[in-house]
Amino acid sequence: MTVHPNTLSLIGNTPLVRLAGPSEASGAEIYGKCEFMNPGASVKDRAALFIVEDAEEKGQLQPGGTIVEGTAGNTGIGLALVGNAKGYRTIIVMPETQSREKMDTLRALGAELVLVPAAPYSNPGHFVHTSRRLAEETPGAIWANQFDNIANRKAHIVGTSEEIWAQMDGRVDGFTCAAGTGGTLAGVGLGLKQKDEAITIALTDPYGAALYNFYAHGELKAEGSSVAEGIGQGRITANLDGAPIDTQFRMSDAEGMHWVEKLMSEGLCVGLSTGINVAGAVALGRQLGPGSRIVTILCDTGLRYLSTLYNREWLLAKGLTPFPWLSH
Ligand code: PMP
Repeated sequence: MTVHPNTLSLIGNTPLVRLAGPSEASGAEIYGKCEFMNPGASVKDRAALFIVEDAEEKGQLQPGGTIVEGTAGNTGIGLALVGNAKGYRTIIVMPETQSREKMDTLRALGAELVLVPAAPYSNPGHFVHTSRRLAEETPGAIWANQFDNIANRKAHIVGTSEEIWAQMDGRVDGFTCAAGTGGTLAGVGLGLKQKDEAITIALTDPYGAALYNFYAHGELKAEGSSVAEGIGQGRITANLDGAPIDTQFRMSDAEGMHWVEKLMSEGLCVGLSTGINVAGAVALGRQLGPGSRIVTILCDTGLRYLSTLYNREWLLAKGLTPFPWLSH
């Protein structure tokens, strides 16, 4: 048992857990990195801390300064926590389509919330462009720029991948996860390849994202759609640039929900991006064969989606089959 010297040191060093259902289904050994156990209950606390400390080291963020970011939610939650701990103001720009829980959480943490309509990336009103403009207009502010600021993936090169390597006793056959910014996939991929070039790094893409076609056929092309929050990328971000992707899978929301349901029966309540990651891990385990050791990311807590993924009416409205226990 250790005592942490300060609250920020609670970020990272998350547990790794063997997942019984996915292991049994694939014949592989599937492990999940419990990122929902970070203080902000998601993988994005890591990127938030590294982005803020990088800006401090570069002298861009001074005492009393402001952090501005466009985010689907979890990065904003991480930035607000880190900002609170370090005395910075946080302004978060978010598409109004994100879950109510994330908005309420950001407000509860003291972040200033700016909601914008969902728009394509090419539209100047897109939340990312809006946040950049706001940062430029705000004195003493930095733009966290999680998509193209590679302090994001560095958090996973020096943090997440080192932890996985140590927790797995240096025996890893494959790693897979979905990409939002791509920081987790590229960072863990680069870090693990430094340890062992033979580790297979796989992208697990949701529908509605363009990366599956890019890595499979060299063309950024999206097909279908997904309601999963925080994942689904249409371009090669700076964080994804040079990511060592060996193979790729595409998983539907229904496949992701299947694994969310299975994890619930193992006592874990997770979000849909986690279900999609686990679906990818099962596919990678089948591909690499019986007994192969596969790691994926359990990105965030399902408690962030009580009004969406865990709401019967919302699921029905989206054409998805509600989890069986939601009917009573
Ligand atoms: N899942 C969720 C719920 C997220 O919020 C994010 C962050 N956008 C991801 C997965 C993907 O992480 P990354 O940005 O590192 O690709």
